[in-house]
Amino acid sequence: MALPLPSSLSPSKISSFTDCPLAFRFEAIERIPSRPTEATVKGTLVHSALERLMTLDAPARDRAAAHRCLDEARAALPEDPEWIELALPASEHAAFFTHAGQLVDAYLGLEDPTTIDASGLELHLEHTDPSSGMLLRGIIDRLETDPHGTLVVTDYKTGRSPNPRYAQSRMVGVHVYSYLVEKNYGHRPGRVQLLYLGDQKVIAEEPTEQSTRAIERKVGAIWDAITRSCERENFQARVSPLCNWCDYREFCPDKGGSLELGLETAAALRAARGD
Ligand code: SF4
Repeated sequence: MALPLPSSLSPSKISSFTDCPLAFRFEAIERIPSRPTEATVKGTLVHSALERLMTLDAPARDRAAAHRCLDEARAALPEDPEWIELALPASEHAAFFTHAGQLVDAYLGLEDPTTIDASGLELHLEHTDPSSGMLLRGIIDRLETDPHGTLVVTDYKTGRSPNPRYAQSRMVGVHVYSYLVEKNYGHRPGRVQLLYLGDQKVIAEEPTEQSTRAIERKVGAIWDAITRSCERENFQARVSPLCNWCDYREFCPDKGGSLELGLETAAALRAARGD
Protein backbone atom coordinates (compact mmCIF):
# COMPACT_ATOMS: atom_id res chain seq x y z
CA MET A 1 0.00 0.00 0.00
CA ALA A 2 1.46 3.33 -1.06
CA LEU A 3 2.09 6.04 1.52
CA PRO A 4 0.00 9.23 1.22
CA LEU A 5 1.64 12.15 -0.54
CA PRO A 6 2.19 15.28 1.52
CA SER A 7 -0.54 17.88 0.92
CA SER A 8 1.98 20.43 -0.37
CA LEU A 9 5.63 21.21 -0.92
CA SER A 10 7.45 24.20 0.62
CA PRO A 11 11.07 25.37 0.85
CA SER A 12 11.42 23.78 4.30
CA LYS A 13 10.08 20.43 3.01
CA ILE A 14 12.39 20.61 -0.01
CA SER A 15 15.32 21.16 2.32
CA SER A 16 14.14 18.38 4.65
CA PHE A 17 13.79 15.81 1.81
CA THR A 18 17.14 16.83 0.33
CA ASP A 19 18.90 16.49 3.70
CA CYS A 20 17.41 13.09 4.59
CA PRO A 21 14.40 11.40 2.92
CA LEU A 22 13.74 9.22 6.00
CA ALA A 23 13.59 12.21 8.37
CA PHE A 24 11.28 13.86 5.81
CA ARG A 25 9.01 10.79 5.96
CA PHE A 26 8.71 11.01 9.76
CA GLU A 27 7.96 14.72 9.68
CA ALA A 28 5.93 15.32 6.50
CA ILE A 29 4.28 11.93 5.79
CA GLU A 30 3.94 10.35 9.25
CA ARG A 31 3.43 13.82 10.79
CA ILE A 32 5.52 13.26 13.90
CA PRO A 33 6.33 16.85 14.90
CA SER A 34 9.93 17.85 15.48
CA ARG A 35 10.71 19.34 18.88
CA PRO A 36 11.21 23.09 19.19
CA THR A 37 14.74 24.16 20.07
CA GLU A 38 16.04 27.30 21.70
CA ALA A 39 17.30 28.44 18.29
CA THR A 40 13.99 27.89 16.49
CA VAL A 41 11.92 29.57 19.23
CA LYS A 42 14.32 32.53 19.37
CA GLY A 43 14.18 32.75 15.58
CA THR A 44 10.38 32.94 15.65
CA LEU A 45 10.52 35.62 18.37
CA VAL A 46 12.95 37.82 16.40
CA HIS A 47 10.97 37.34 13.17
CA SER A 48 7.84 38.48 15.01
CA ALA A 49 9.66 41.58 16.35
CA LEU A 50 10.89 42.53 12.86
CA GLU A 51 7.47 41.95 11.34
CA ARG A 52 5.95 44.27 13.97
CA LEU A 53 8.66 46.87 13.26
CA MET A 54 7.79 46.89 9.55
CA THR A 55 4.12 47.60 10.30
CA LEU A 56 5.10 50.97 11.86
CA ASP A 57 5.32 54.14 9.78
CA ALA A 58 8.78 54.14 8.19
CA PRO A 59 10.18 57.20 10.08
CA ALA A 60 9.21 55.61 13.43
CA ARG A 61 11.35 52.50 12.93
CA ASP A 62 14.26 53.44 15.19
CA ARG A 63 16.15 51.28 17.70
CA ALA A 64 13.81 52.08 20.59
CA ALA A 65 10.82 51.07 18.46
CA ALA A 66 12.59 47.85 17.40
CA HIS A 67 13.13 46.88 21.03
CA ARG A 68 9.54 47.79 21.91
CA CYS A 69 8.47 45.41 19.13
CA LEU A 70 10.68 42.72 20.65
CA ASP A 71 9.07 43.36 24.05
CA GLU A 72 5.60 43.00 22.48
CA ALA A 73 6.61 39.75 20.80
CA ARG A 74 8.04 38.53 24.11
CA ALA A 75 4.79 39.38 25.90
CA ALA A 76 2.96 36.97 23.58
CA LEU A 77 5.36 34.09 24.31
CA PRO A 78 3.52 32.53 27.31
CA GLU A 79 0.68 31.59 24.90
CA ASP A 80 3.06 30.19 22.29
CA PRO A 81 2.88 26.35 22.16
CA GLU A 82 6.52 26.07 21.06
CA TRP A 83 7.73 28.25 23.94
CA ILE A 84 5.63 26.18 26.33
CA GLU A 85 7.04 22.91 24.93
CA LEU A 86 10.59 24.26 25.02
CA ALA A 87 10.21 24.75 28.80
CA LEU A 88 13.40 26.78 29.03
CA PRO A 89 14.61 26.89 32.67
CA ALA A 90 13.97 30.31 34.27
CA SER A 91 17.70 30.61 34.97
CA GLU A 92 18.28 30.71 31.18
CA HIS A 93 15.65 33.31 30.30
CA ALA A 94 17.92 36.33 30.75
CA ALA A 95 20.55 34.98 28.32
CA PHE A 96 17.82 33.96 25.84
CA PHE A 97 16.23 37.43 25.72
CA THR A 98 19.58 39.25 25.79
CA HIS A 99 20.64 37.31 22.70
CA ALA A 100 17.29 38.04 21.01
CA GLY A 101 17.94 41.76 21.63
CA GLN A 102 21.43 41.41 20.15
CA LEU A 103 19.94 39.83 17.03
CA VAL A 104 17.53 42.77 16.65
CA ASP A 105 20.52 45.15 16.97
CA ALA A 106 22.40 43.05 14.40
CA TYR A 107 19.47 43.53 12.01
CA LEU A 108 19.61 47.31 12.53
CA GLY A 109 23.31 47.16 11.63
CA LEU A 110 22.52 45.46 8.32
CA GLU A 111 20.00 47.92 6.87
CA ASP A 112 18.08 51.08 7.72
CA PRO A 113 14.47 49.95 8.33
CA THR A 114 13.17 53.50 7.65
CA THR A 115 14.07 52.97 3.97
CA ILE A 116 12.08 49.76 3.53
CA ASP A 117 8.89 49.93 1.48
CA ALA A 118 7.33 46.57 2.27
CA SER A 119 4.27 45.45 0.32
CA GLY A 120 4.05 42.05 2.01
CA LEU A 121 5.00 40.71 5.44
CA GLU A 122 4.75 37.00 6.27
CA LEU A 123 3.20 36.77 2.83
CA HIS A 124 1.52 33.41 2.10
CA LEU A 125 1.75 32.43 -1.56
CA GLU A 126 0.95 29.21 -3.36
CA HIS A 127 0.84 27.79 -6.86
CA THR A 128 -0.51 24.49 -8.19
CA ASP A 129 1.47 22.88 -10.98
CA PRO A 130 -1.11 22.08 -13.68
CA SER A 131 0.56 18.88 -14.87
CA SER A 132 1.51 17.17 -11.59
CA GLY A 133 -1.12 18.75 -9.33
CA MET A 134 1.64 19.60 -6.85
CA LEU A 135 0.73 22.47 -4.51
CA LEU A 136 3.79 24.64 -3.82
CA ARG A 137 3.51 26.97 -0.82
CA GLY A 138 5.73 29.57 0.77
CA ILE A 139 5.62 32.24 3.47
CA ILE A 140 7.84 35.17 2.52
CA ASP A 141 9.24 37.18 5.45
CA ARG A 142 9.18 40.39 3.43
CA LEU A 143 8.42 41.48 -0.13
CA GLU A 144 9.42 45.05 -0.88
CA THR A 145 10.25 47.52 -3.62
CA ASP A 146 13.69 49.08 -3.21
CA PRO A 147 14.49 52.76 -4.01
CA HIS A 148 15.40 51.77 -7.60
CA GLY A 149 11.97 50.22 -8.13
CA THR A 150 13.30 46.65 -7.90
CA LEU A 151 11.04 44.00 -6.36
CA VAL A 152 13.00 42.29 -3.56
CA VAL A 153 12.35 39.05 -1.62
CA THR A 154 13.96 39.17 1.84
CA ASP A 155 14.33 36.27 4.26
CA TYR A 156 15.73 36.77 7.77
CA LYS A 157 18.03 34.11 9.21
CA THR A 158 18.86 34.36 12.90
CA GLY A 159 21.81 31.97 12.63
CA ARG A 160 25.20 32.54 11.02
CA SER A 161 25.87 32.57 7.30
CA PRO A 162 27.03 29.27 5.78
CA ASN A 163 30.45 28.36 4.52
CA PRO A 164 30.65 29.74 0.94
CA ARG A 165 30.68 26.13 -0.34
CA TYR A 166 27.10 25.72 0.92
CA ALA A 167 25.81 29.24 0.22
CA GLN A 168 24.23 28.31 -3.11
CA SER A 169 22.16 25.51 -1.60
CA ARG A 170 20.83 27.89 1.06
CA MET A 171 19.43 30.16 -1.67
CA VAL A 172 16.94 27.55 -2.93
CA GLY A 173 14.20 28.77 -0.56
CA VAL A 174 14.31 32.42 -1.67
CA HIS A 175 14.41 31.36 -5.33
CA VAL A 176 11.26 29.30 -4.69
CA TYR A 177 9.70 32.45 -3.19
CA SER A 178 10.73 34.42 -6.27
CA TYR A 179 9.09 31.76 -8.45
CA LEU A 180 5.89 32.01 -6.38
CA VAL A 181 5.89 35.83 -6.66
CA GLU A 182 6.25 35.55 -10.44
CA LYS A 183 3.45 32.97 -10.67
CA ASN A 184 1.10 35.03 -8.48
CA TYR A 185 1.84 38.59 -9.61
CA GLY A 186 3.35 38.12 -13.07
CA HIS A 187 6.58 39.94 -12.10
CA ARG A 188 9.90 38.28 -11.39
CA PRO A 189 11.71 39.87 -8.40
CA GLY A 190 14.96 41.60 -9.32
CA ARG A 191 16.71 40.44 -6.14
CA VAL A 192 16.41 37.73 -3.50
CA GLN A 193 18.38 38.07 -0.29
CA LEU A 194 19.12 36.33 2.98
CA LEU A 195 19.89 38.59 5.94
CA TYR A 196 22.03 36.58 8.39
CA LEU A 197 21.71 38.29 11.76
CA GLY A 198 24.04 35.84 13.53
CA ASP A 199 27.11 37.30 11.81
CA GLN A 200 25.59 40.31 10.02
CA LYS A 201 26.03 39.09 6.45
CA VAL A 202 23.79 39.51 3.44
CA ILE A 203 23.77 36.98 0.61
CA ALA A 204 21.90 38.23 -2.45
CA GLU A 205 21.29 37.01 -5.99
CA GLU A 206 19.35 38.23 -9.03
CA PRO A 207 16.83 35.68 -10.33
CA THR A 208 17.02 35.16 -14.09
CA GLU A 209 15.00 33.23 -16.64
CA GLN A 210 17.64 30.48 -16.36
CA SER A 211 17.63 30.33 -12.54
CA THR A 212 13.82 30.38 -12.49
CA ARG A 213 13.58 27.44 -14.91
CA ALA A 214 16.24 25.62 -12.86
CA ILE A 215 14.19 26.07 -9.68
CA GLU A 216 11.06 24.90 -11.48
CA ARG A 217 12.90 21.75 -12.65
CA LYS A 218 14.39 21.16 -9.19
CA VAL A 219 11.02 21.44 -7.43
CA GLY A 220 9.43 19.13 -10.04
CA ALA A 221 12.23 16.58 -9.66
CA ILE A 222 11.90 16.58 -5.86
CA TRP A 223 8.13 16.14 -6.10
CA ASP A 224 8.65 13.22 -8.50
CA ALA A 225 11.20 11.67 -6.09
CA ILE A 226 8.76 12.06 -3.16
CA THR A 227 5.98 10.51 -5.25
CA ARG A 228 8.18 7.51 -6.13
CA SER A 229 9.27 7.11 -2.50
CA CYS A 230 5.62 7.12 -1.37
CA GLU A 231 4.62 4.59 -4.05
CA ARG A 232 7.47 2.25 -3.01
CA GLU A 233 7.19 3.07 0.71
CA ASN A 234 10.91 3.58 0.53
CA PHE A 235 12.48 6.69 2.06
CA GLN A 236 16.23 6.22 2.38
CA ALA A 237 18.15 7.36 5.44
CA ARG A 238 20.96 9.79 4.59
CA VAL A 239 23.51 9.75 7.40
CA SER A 240 25.35 13.06 7.76
CA PRO A 241 26.49 15.44 10.52
CA LEU A 242 22.84 16.63 10.59
CA CYS A 243 21.99 13.36 12.37
CA ASN A 244 23.37 14.95 15.55
CA TRP A 245 20.37 17.31 15.59
CA CYS A 246 17.77 14.89 14.19
CA ASP A 247 14.61 14.38 16.28
CA TYR A 248 14.00 10.96 14.72
CA ARG A 249 17.15 9.07 15.70
CA GLU A 250 15.23 6.65 17.94
CA PHE A 251 13.19 5.67 14.85
CA CYS A 252 16.16 5.50 12.45
CA PRO A 253 17.56 2.01 11.68
CA ASP A 254 20.82 3.59 10.46
CA LYS A 255 21.32 5.05 13.94
CA GLY A 256 20.31 1.94 15.88
CA GLY A 257 16.68 3.03 16.15
CA SER A 258 13.45 1.23 15.31
CA LEU A 259 11.33 2.10 12.27
CA GLU A 260 8.46 0.10 13.82
CA LEU A 261 8.58 2.31 16.91
CA GLY A 262 8.34 5.37 14.62
CA LEU A 263 5.31 3.93 12.80
CA GLU A 264 3.63 3.04 16.13
CA THR A 265 4.28 6.57 17.37
CA ALA A 266 2.77 8.02 14.19
CA ALA A 267 -0.30 5.76 14.52
CA ALA A 268 -0.78 6.84 18.15
CA LEU A 269 -0.55 10.51 17.15
CA ARG A 270 -3.07 9.99 14.32
CA ALA A 271 -5.48 8.35 16.75
CA ALA A 272 -5.02 11.21 19.27
CA ARG A 273 -5.71 13.77 16.52
CA GLY A 274 -8.74 11.79 15.34
CA ASP A 275 -7.33 11.47 11.79
S1 SF4 B 1 19.29 10.13 12.25
FE1 SF4 B 1 20.23 10.87 10.33
S2 SF4 B 1 19.86 9.27 8.80
FE2 SF4 B 1 18.48 8.90 10.53
S3 SF4 B 1 16.55 9.91 10.00
FE3 SF4 B 1 17.75 11.37 11.18
S4 SF4 B 1 18.90 12.59 9.67
FE4 SF4 B 1 18.15 10.72 8.64
